[in-house]
Amino acid sequence: MSETRLIPVAIKHRGSWKINFVNVTPFEGLLRFHAQSERGRATKYLVDLDAYWTLGFCGCENFGINIEPIVKKWQADEREITDARRCKHILACRQYVGAELLDMLLRLRRRETNKTRRENE
Ligand SMILES: [Zn+2]
Repeated sequence: MSETRLIPVAIKHRGSWKINFVNVTPFEGLLRFHAQSERGRATKYLVDLDAYWTLGFCGCENFGINIEPIVKKWQADEREITDARRCKHILACRQYVGAELLDMLLRLRRRETNKTRRENE
């Protein structure tokens, strides 16, 4: 995983769905990224998908003001890992990982198919 991908994310805002585009770039390891919204301020936010019991962490204002204060108070038995508690940057990074894994699986399958073809020739 190394390249930047532009990821579309559906977000419900005041009752209607909107598509947001987020640029996602791997930053460190397999679970940390820089996420940058296409519109508005061009700030890059650090996203860590492993934080908060895999709910994820993001450095954006929405996460810091609306999500993190609630998440920090969760007791072990009330940890609600749901997309409703994830900002668009975290959602985009999770989609990035899904797309990368799919590409990897398809490459592996192609390699296996080519190998089998060569063995049968
Ligand atoms: Zn965010």
